[in-house]
Amino acid sequence: MERPELSLIIPIFNEALVIDELRRRLAEVMSKLESQVRSWEVVFIDDGSKDASLQMLREMASAEPRFKVVSFARNFGHQLAITAGLDRAEGDAVVIMDADLQDPPEVVLEMITRWRDGFDVVYCVRRSRAGETLFKRATASVFYRFLRWMLGGVTIPVDAGDFRLVSRPVVLTLRALRERHRFVRGMVSWVGFKQSPLLYDREARFAGETKYPFTKMLRFAVDAITSFSILPLRLASWLGVGTAMVAIVYSMYVVYVKLYLGATVQGWATLMIAVALGTSAQLFMTGILGEYVGRIYEEVKRRPLYVTAELINFVGAEAGPSSRYLDDRREKAREPS
Ligand code: UDP
Ligand code: MG
Repeated sequence: MERPELSLIIPIFNEALVIDELRRRLAEVMSKLESQVRSWEVVFIDDGSKDASLQMLREMASAEPRFKVVSFARNFGHQLAITAGLDRAEGDAVVIMDADLQDPPEVVLEMITRWRDGFDVVYCVRRSRAGETLFKRATASVFYRFLRWMLGGVTIPVDAGDFRLVSRPVVLTLRALRERHRFVRGMVSWVGFKQSPLLYDREARFAGETKYPFTKMLRFAVDAITSFSILPLRLASWLGVGTAMVAIVYSMYVVYVKLYLGATVQGWATLMIAVALGTSAQLFMTGILGEYVGRIYEEVKRRPLYVTAELINFVGAEAGPSSRYLDDRREKAREPS
């Protein structure tokens, strides 16, 4: 079967309240797209939804074979849902977007134009963000600037999410990156190719609540840092050098006081502060080490990144675990010997 020219990837986690409207908006955009692209597909990834989402997607897919569904065996998280989409999407251009209509599907038309102009990545930068709390906007703003400072080499755009278009060469490259803790937007920057920003107004969520509570956001931030930088590990050396210098100066003072002034036992406060600061710095560094060691542990287990329970409207594909390793083996098994 011929590959579609455009694929849309839409992760879905408990989005029953928005699916009908999403379908309506998609139909509108797709009819406009018909003059711009030869053929299209939409790959929905049901990330272990517990509401009616999967049932609704099944109904959509039975009425429209170009709507395809990858259904996870449980919730694996937004970034792995996107990964499954990238693994399955066959378009020459692939667009990643949220289901909640915060990323207006109409922007896809503009992305296609940029792609036709020769760009491999068109990433959408938020000119405005409606309906997001001040807290979310503030933390995001600080975090991305901090991340940018930390990474140095790989420039990760500020105020951009995963809403973007990537060309097939980029998709094929991303498929080769099988790390477990993923920060997809960073990985896309890392890949390189010709990238172009596109300004858009981020709308408010159409219905329902954010699926990114603070704890998930925090985990996402730690994944972003640890998957692109080992600067936190170096922090130990800097802290060590810093405290050693303070210690040397202070020791000289202590010796001086002892020899020339014959001081008595004093300095309980200094001692307590030194012990408290010292132990907390050490625990903090052990924690950072733990973050990295834990990630190494999870990588060496080489488990598949996600497990699919069901695939709908994919021709000749089977559900099951997915990892580069398993895919390669399956590929080998299929080759005629
Ligand atoms: N999502 C997902 N798995 C999760 C959390 C979220 O697939 O564990 C999807 C969700 O359905 C939506 C997108 O990821 O399509 C972005 O989530 P959300 O809109 O809740 O995040 P926010 O816009 O609030 O950052
Ligand atoms: Mg959202």
